Order: sequence, then C-alpha cells, then structure tokens
Amino acid sequence: MLEALKKYFGYSEFRPLQEETIKTVVAGRDAFLLMPTGGGKSLCYQLPAVLLDGLTVVVSPLIALMKDQVDQLNALGIPATFLNSSLEASETEDRVRKLKRGEYKLLYVAPERLVMTGFLGFLDRLNVRLFAIDEAHCISEWGHDFRAEYRQLSIIKKRWPKVPLIAMTATATKRVEKDILTELGLRDPHRAQASFNRPNLAYTVRPKVKHFKELLDFLKQHKGDSGIIYCFSRNGAEELATALKTEGFRALPYHAGLDQQTRIRNQEKFSRDKVEIICATIAFGMGINKSNVRFVVHYDLPKSLAGYYQETGRAGRDGLPADCLLFFGLGDQTKQIIFIEEKPTEAERVHAREELDRMVAYAQSRICRRVALLGYFHEVFEGVPCGACDNCLVSGSQDMFDATREAQMFLSCMMRVQQSFGAGHIIEILRGSESEKIFNWRHNKLSTYGIGKSHSADEWKWIAAELQRLEYIRPDHNHHSVLRLMPKGADVLKGKTKVSIYYSPKRPKAQREKEGALAAPNESLFQELRELRKRIAEHQSVPPYVVFSDLSLKQMASIIPLDVPALLKISGVGETKAERYGTEFLTVIRQYANENPNLEPIEPPKMPMIAEMDGATETARVTAKMMRDGLTPKQVAKERDLTLSTVEAHLALAVADGFADLMPRLVSEPRRALLQAAFESIGWEVLKPVMEHLVEKYPENKFEYAELRYVRSYHIAEQKQNGEVDLSAKSSHVTS
Ligand code: ADP
Ligand code: ZN
Repeated sequence: MLEALKKYFGYSEFRPLQEETIKTVVAGRDAFLLMPTGGGKSLCYQLPAVLLDGLTVVVSPLIALMKDQVDQLNALGIPATFLNSSLEASETEDRVRKLKRGEYKLLYVAPERLVMTGFLGFLDRLNVRLFAIDEAHCISEWGHDFRAEYRQLSIIKKRWPKVPLIAMTATATKRVEKDILTELGLRDPHRAQASFNRPNLAYTVRPKVKHFKELLDFLKQHKGDSGIIYCFSRNGAEELATALKTEGFRALPYHAGLDQQTRIRNQEKFSRDKVEIICATIAFGMGINKSNVRFVVHYDLPKSLAGYYQETGRAGRDGLPADCLLFFGLGDQTKQIIFIEEKPTEAERVHAREELDRMVAYAQSRICRRVALLGYFHEVFEGVPCGACDNCLVSGSQDMFDATREAQMFLSCMMRVQQSFGAGHIIEILRGSESEKIFNWRHNKLSTYGIGKSHSADEWKWIAAELQRLEYIRPDHNHHSVLRLMPKGADVLKGKTKVSIYYSPKRPKAQREKEGALAAPNESLFQELRELRKRIAEHQSVPPYVVFSDLSLKQMASIIPLDVPALLKISGVGETKAERYGTEFLTVIRQYANENPNLEPIEPPKMPMIAEMDGATETARVTAKMMRDGLTPKQVAKERDLTLSTVEAHLALAVADGFADLMPRLVSEPRRALLQAAFESIGWEVLKPVMEHLVEKYPENKFEYAELRYVRSYHIAEQKQNGEVDLSAKSSHVTS
C-alpha cells in the first residue's frame, strides 16, 4: 500500500484513518468515513481503486467538478473517467466502450444517472469492485444539502450486496449519520471519524467597524493569494467585487442571481488562478476542489456555525496555513433576525434562532475559537492555547477559574428583576450604578444592588458571555436583549453545580501577526515554479493544482531537488508526474541553483500539525490495550497489520486519554524528565523547535518525534489530573 501511495500519489505516509479505511474496503467490508474537508477522504477510495482489479464507481453530486477530479487522477497516471450530461453522444459512446474493455480504474457519475434502470444493467456487465459515495450527507433531510436523488442509492447494496461501499462526508450529526447508514443499507460498516479540528486554519473575529479599510489591509497582506469573501446578499457580493476592482484587486462575484454561464466562468477563473478573489453568497463553494485557497473572509455574519465551519473549511485544503477572518457587528445579527422572522413555521424560526444565537456567541466569545467551534460538534479541543486564533494569541493564557459565586450573583439578580432585562442592566445593578434607569425601576433597593463591585463592567460582560456560551442563560427569542434562565442555570442557583469559565483575556486588539510560514524559503524560486505551473496548466487547460499543489512547489523551493530521485522525494510527486513534468521543473530549479551558488537546501515546511489530528480514539484504544497486554509497538503493528507510525500515533493519543500507565514502557522516566525540561523551555505547541533544541543541546544523542509526542501526551494527561487542584487555587486568587 505504501508503495502504491508513493508511486501514484507521491506521498510517503498516510494521514490519520486513511490506512485503516483503505484496508477495510480493500478487504471487502463497507465503511463510513467522517472527516473534515481537506482531511484526505478521496484517497480512501482512490488508492483502493488502484489496488483492486476492476472498476470503482464514484457517486458525486457535482457534475461541474467531475472533470477536475478526473483530470487530477489522469495527471497521476490513474485511468479515470466520468459520464454526465455535459458530454457529446460520440464522446459518451467512446467512454462506454472503454469501460466495457476495462480500461478505467474509476468512473464518476451523478446519483440520478446511476439509478437509471439502463445504467444499472450496464454496471452489471462491468467488473465493479467498489462503490464510493461522496457527500453522503445529501441523503439525509437533516443535513443541509438534502438531495432526493440520493435516496434512491439504496438500490446499490440491494443489487450488489457483496461489493463493498464506502460512504464519506465532512458533515454529519448523529442523526445524519444514522440516516446515511440505514438509507444506504450498509452492513456492519467500519466507522472512522476524524477530528474536526483544522490545525492549519487560523481564526480571527474583528469588530465590524471601518471594515472595508481593514479588509483592504488584510488583502494587501495576502497579495497574490486566492481567497473567498462571503457576503450576506447578492447585492453585497456584487458591490464588494466592484469596490475591490476599483482598488486594484482582481475580484469577481458569484451568486445564484447570475446566469449559469457567468457563474461557471467566474468559478473557473478562480479555480485556474486567473482571478484571486471571489465575492460570493453561500451559493458558492460546495465541493470546490481548489486546494490553495489561502483565506476565507466573512464580510457579514453567517447564520449558523455549521455553515461557518463549512465555508471556512474551503481554505487550506493543501494543509498549508490559511486565514479565516470574520467581521462581526450587532447590526448583522438584527438583519439575520429579520430574515428569520420571515420563515413560515414556528419550528423553523426556533431552530434558526438557536443556530444564530450560537453563531453570535462564537463571534463574541473570548475563548479559544477552536474550543468554541469544535464544541459545536461536541468535540473537546485539548490543545489550548492553539496558537492560531485571535483569542489565544491575544490572551496567551487560557486557564479556567471557578466563577460559581459570580454566576450565582448574576443569575439571582436576573431572577430579582423577573428575567425582564438584558446583561447591561443586570451589570449596572451588580455594580451599584447610580443611573436614572436604575433609580426609576427602584433597582437600587434590590438585595443584589452593588454586590458585584469588585469586578469591572468589562469583566462582568465577559462573565455574562461565558454564562451564555455554557448555556446557563440564553437571550429571549422574542426580545433579544432580555436574558432567560436555562435549567442548568437553575441548578447553579440551587447550589447544585459549580461553574468554571475561562479567564477574561484582555480585549482583543491586534490582528494576528502575518504568518511567516506562508513565505517559501526561496520565494523567488517558488514564484518561478508557480509561473511554470501556470503555463503548463494553461497549455493543458486544467487548473494549476492539477499539475502540482502549492505544497509540492514550496517543498521544491526549499529542498532544491536537482535530479529525478530527489524530485520523487517531494510530497505529491509520484512517478507519472515526475515523468511528465520532471524535466521542465528540474530545468528551472537547476538554473536557479546555478545562479545562486550559495543556496542551501532547507528543511521543507511540514504540513502544520496535520499528522496530529486525533479522533482515532476507538482504534487507538485497541492498540493501547494490546500494549497493556504486553506487546511492543512493533508487535502491535505486525498483529494489527498497521505501519509502526500509525501505531505510534495511536499510542500518543492513548497516553493523553486514559493510558498514561503505558508511559514507562514507551519512554524511561529519566528520559521523560529530560524531554519535559526541553518542552518547558521551548513551549509545548510545536514539536520541531523542541527537537532542534534537543539535538543542539545533546548532540551525541538521538531523539525521535514519537517520543516527543508521548511526552507531550503524558503532560496533557497530568494536567487533566491536576485540573481541579489548579482551578480552586486560581479561584481564590481571582475572587479576592
Ligand atoms: P477531502 O476530500 O477530505 O476534502 P482531499 O481528498 O481533497 O480531502 O485531500 C485534501 C488534500 O490532501 C489533497 O490535496 C490531497 O492530495 C492531500 N492528501 C491526501 N492524502 C494525503 C497524504 N497521505 N499525504 C499527503 N497529502 C495528502
Ligand atoms: Zn485558540
């Protein structure tokens, strides 16, 4: 498998969950794969397609994107094709003939075509070895892209019960997942779910004040990069595109009000790097395959966190750093509320309001954006401070403290005024304000008047925001400025539960610093390679990323490969691409090397932290249990038929999560202490600088990344254990 991975795709290792999923389907078992955009789902059917002898049928809802997907495979030397309504009759016939002769490994079709009786009969005559259903959430009415045609896909398992089927999606609540499994009739599927964290995306929220100017500054920092700017309305998208053009940017609009031709043309210009910026409504983007989107801006407030996650998810699919910027103003909230009020049924309105509340809470929150965003998917993010969100960067520390007393003050004050006021007024009461409004209402007579003077108004606002985020209170649905008590809040008043919240960080002010990582080590070489890529792509009329990804070019610009074997070591360079494009790229690189004789190869930029996406918990536990039974990592790898690095990744997860007892067998205690000291002097976030520090300090020793991961996981486990002790120590110091 690893050989085929390198040979065809040019990658030297699997991403989390890929290996086990591929093994499953190759062995003939059904699979369900839940993985965020950019996680690498496609490989989970494309590699099996290469390995199996026969045809893999891929069901994909987006006719417009099939060509790009097929072009990408052909560029890798994998014979693939698609059938859809865009083809001329003669072309279709030609492809059908070749299919019958078994000349393709993959066939892409839309669901409505697949289920036609004639087509089913045709498939019967082909040697179909695997079905792959992309965007499988379209099958569920609970998903956000329900498509009736998907329902009919239930025919597949009935007609071909022995052919394995893999269903993939990047969005699934439990409900949607259940729909997928039952509707498709999967039999005892292997289930794999990746973390929803996208480590290479940086999240920032900015107040919507003078935001056009701020957007221009942001775009200047991203000069030459591709990006999407989402707007609330069609008009908004048009106007912004025009305004940006006036400012000298290449921008085009995209929304459902444009005719189809214009839409396709604009999308294509964007895909092919002919225009950098698309100003779009949410009509844009589903399934878009462009891997080098470097930023996604939300110029207006999205209506739900689910949508926000999907839209920002279109950035950075290549694993390189990308920026997500959201402008938030209360005016936008009002706009959305008006929109919601027009919905036909009360049930829809209630649902929409709840979603909006969560979106607003996210925008206002001052905790790590990853904690907030992943929390929406019921995922607990452990890596705070994450190092790539405005709140973590501004506040640095993300510790929690016990705010039970403050919460009780706030909630009981809310009750004293019959839950008829907003946070601002409650805070005035708590702080003993002497404003007219307080006296008019005679709220200066309340027992809670002035009991909260020891916190500033800003601190109280923060506490209120946290109480809302944690669902102790919520805004009233009809009067948005009025706060209501939730059942959890009632428990706090009764003294049944404790409340712990994040420290109020200082007001976020600075924008996050420009990522140095975006610049290639040899920027001018990188630019030359980009130019070459663009010329080749234009010549073959395919999008540039079909030729090579940005990541591949960046690695070339840093490693400076001078011959084919060196070129093959670059991520994304397989045999076919090396053969097809190698000479041209090597010529440019060699020439550059000649002109710059002092050039030193530099360690390539790694996929930032991608390898550390967790979520493989179930399978990690299996590995960890086998270790407990006395096996060594190597033995586990052999037993489970996994690579050693997968087993090591499992163990790193497990140590942080209930298997800390394995530690002495993985890293001896003195060594652990030594590595921990290195982490403490450099920081826990990124492994590479720690490794460099160690190598420098102990040149006679050898260190492995795996052991660094174990030590870090062990540290996380320890922190979890000490959590409570720490919190109470902190709370006394805060409240005093
Ligand atoms: P998804 O379909 O889950 O959104 P893709 O399948 O498009 O994601 O993969 C995202 C990117 O990651 C692609 O550029 C793909 O080539 C790359 N990729 C996938 N698997 C690997 C791997 N094992 N190593 C390196 N890059 C990979
Ligand atoms: Zn963060």
